[in-house]
Amino acid sequence: MRSFLLTVLLISSLHANAGPDEALLAAARAEQQPMLDSLAEFCAIETGSREPAGLQRLAQLLMKRLDQLGGEVELIAPTEVYRMEDTPEQPGAMVRATFRGNGTRSVLLLAHMDTVYPSGSLARQPFQLRGDRAYGLGILDDKQGLALVLHTLALLRARGFDDYARITVLFNGDEEISSPASRALITRLGAEHDAVLSFEGTGREAISLATSGIAAVHLDVRGRAAHAAAVKGAGVNALDELAHQILQTRRLFSNDDDISLAWTQARAGEARNMLPPTASADADVRVRRLADFERVEARLRSTMAEQLLPEARLEMRFERRRPPMEATLPSRMLGAAAVAIAAELGHRLELVTEPEGGGTDAAFAALQAKGPVLESLGLRGGGAHGSQTEYVRVDSIVPRLYMAAKLIQTASRK
Ligand SMILES: [Zn+2]
Repeated sequence: MRSFLLTVLLISSLHANAGPDEALLAAARAEQQPMLDSLAEFCAIETGSREPAGLQRLAQLLMKRLDQLGGEVELIAPTEVYRMEDTPEQPGAMVRATFRGNGTRSVLLLAHMDTVYPSGSLARQPFQLRGDRAYGLGILDDKQGLALVLHTLALLRARGFDDYARITVLFNGDEEISSPASRALITRLGAEHDAVLSFEGTGREAISLATSGIAAVHLDVRGRAAHAAAVKGAGVNALDELAHQILQTRRLFSNDDDISLAWTQARAGEARNMLPPTASADADVRVRRLADFERVEARLRSTMAEQLLPEARLEMRFERRRPPMEATLPSRMLGAAAVAIAAELGHRLELVTEPEGGGTDAAFAALQAKGPVLESLGLRGGGAHGSQTEYVRVDSIVPRLYMAAKLIQTASRK
């Protein structure tokens, strides 16, 4: 660990006084307006995770753009689907583009096409520039990621950069529903590439090397209906059993800093004067380490075996929605390079090495990756998943284009 830290310090100090690559910076400045034009175009298409028509339109548009940039482009229909409670019949397709160069290393670039917004939301959040902000539907999460990838590739292409064996772009259409159709492919691609760069937006001058693992618990209780005033033993009150289960599990992990569990939704009953025959509840679980999923599930199952009403039937499903991503040594090394790149522009970049609650597709890419995986390389902004104020900061376009271009060059270098 000590020698690793020394290496990081050494790399940082070597770069600390380096000025920016002026030609690249000028090219990034020239790319700002075209990138804003792309953002306006992408935000005008509604691409909620359950809106196949919009997703299809955006996918076609991106395929055309990637083709113009010289990629081998394909549309990948969802075939290997990990089904969760909220997985739609037909999740969105993926766009993959492969660029072949003359170097030896490979880099994977990730961003997603879908948003959390259902159709009809566009009127409330039309694209508009106001001051130093560009507002738009899904503009931070994650239309900017798509645009940033395209315009970074344009920058590198204009400079004749081909010192890589392969650059793969993957744009999926199901991130906001925990990537049921793209997770398997993202994991395979993560293992195949020497480095992974993921372009979710960010709220501050930071990039993430670690993200939270997210699971969902669904508990269904089946009892037996009876008149609420029936004699004892006539029914089995599913709500009583559910309440018992919630109370005996709610603090199971409260002394464990690595795990959080919170019951967040519950339903029961059909009428005020009927003992409820069914009851159900959902819990949100966050973990820091992959092995914690198994630990949480096992502990819940053994605890729930203690029933209040032995006649009630319990069914518990434990969905692994997203694995955690941990800050590995290769990620810290490339992260240090990112800090140095930001310093060239006079910015102090923060490396997030402990998860902060959120989960992303980078974690699927990291599952079997040997190289670095960096997340939140997108633009700065705010208001994601909100009702009317999602925006990106225009002054983050040039620095983030510059950083992405330099990181691809750094990761491609032997
Ligand atoms: Zn996102």
